[in-house]
Amino acid sequence: MKRNTIYLLVLCIALSVILICMPAMAKGGGGGGDGSGMGGGRNTDITSISTGILSLKFIFGGFAALAGIILLRTIKINRNIRTLLMCTIFMLFGVLVVMHQPSPLRAMVDPVTALATGGVITLNKATMLAFIGGLSVIGAKLFCGWVCPFGALQEIINRIPAPFQRKIKLPFKISNGIRISLFVISLIMILATGYDLYTYQNILNPFELFNWQFEAVLVVLVGAVLVASVFVYRPFCYLVCPVGLLTWVLEQVSIFSVRIDRGKCNDCKKCILKSPCPSIKAIVDGDTLRPDCFACGACIDACPRDALKFGIRKKAKA
Ligand code: SF4
Ligand code: SF4
Repeated sequence: MKRNTIYLLVLCIALSVILICMPAMAKGGGGGGDGSGMGGGRNTDITSISTGILSLKFIFGGFAALAGIILLRTIKINRNIRTLLMCTIFMLFGVLVVMHQPSPLRAMVDPVTALATGGVITLNKATMLAFIGGLSVIGAKLFCGWVCPFGALQEIINRIPAPFQRKIKLPFKISNGIRISLFVISLIMILATGYDLYTYQNILNPFELFNWQFEAVLVVLVGAVLVASVFVYRPFCYLVCPVGLLTWVLEQVSIFSVRIDRGKCNDCKKCILKSPCPSIKAIVDGDTLRPDCFACGACIDACPRDALKFGIRKKAKA
């Protein structure tokens, strides 16, 4: 096994352990419905954890992810089916008010701020983060690909034909470099200024719009992301989102992911041509480190020889 793979594996395992422990480290409550991250509260007990896990968002989110695995493994998900599914996800988790809090972004940045500054991790954020992490370990980006409303919205907009057919696949090293840099700069800023990470990540937090909070700068920035989505598949996820960064790391060890049957593949590259992401090329080429795969099923649908499956990762041969 390559040294980089070993480092990544260790990082994934460490992250998984932290995510599993997070609800137990958290304080009850959650700073109220405003989603503020730094509120205190009573100590966590089993009742409050189970209440958090049994909230509507987690129940429906769990069902959506489970439906994703079942659909990916049993049918070919073509563009129309996927668009219909993404519209449903957007309506359910983006438009229905009961599903809003905590937003994925707050679930990530508030606990990170608390860990960096010695603050309090609130229970609803910790549970949400463990939920996102848990789904991502079960299946590659199951949360991002099957639950997140802003991911769904970008994917729906990406269906709009681009002028002159100019759909762009960003080189992953560049997009991931930008995403990591933004996260690291934000972390340095909280350590330097004492402000919470949300102060920086909130500059471009599209989830605020689902709360009907329309500040001019945010509207312009999110508008730019949505226009970019016509040309680029999920630009916010690949370039900015810290949750996307976390789930990309976890994706490297997820149990279910898109995998290729070399015996069936004749290298026709139809999957690469018909898929919107930069990930499928890495899968076909057998690269160890893959760009984010949002488990959309487009490559599986495109393959005429059924060489691609959303299956359990096989152990690499020595
Ligand atoms: S990367 Fe962020 S915005 Fe994209 S689907 Fe995941 S949580 Fe949502
Ligand atoms: S590799 Fe790309 S096309 Fe295939 S499921 Fe993942 S995101 Fe979709």
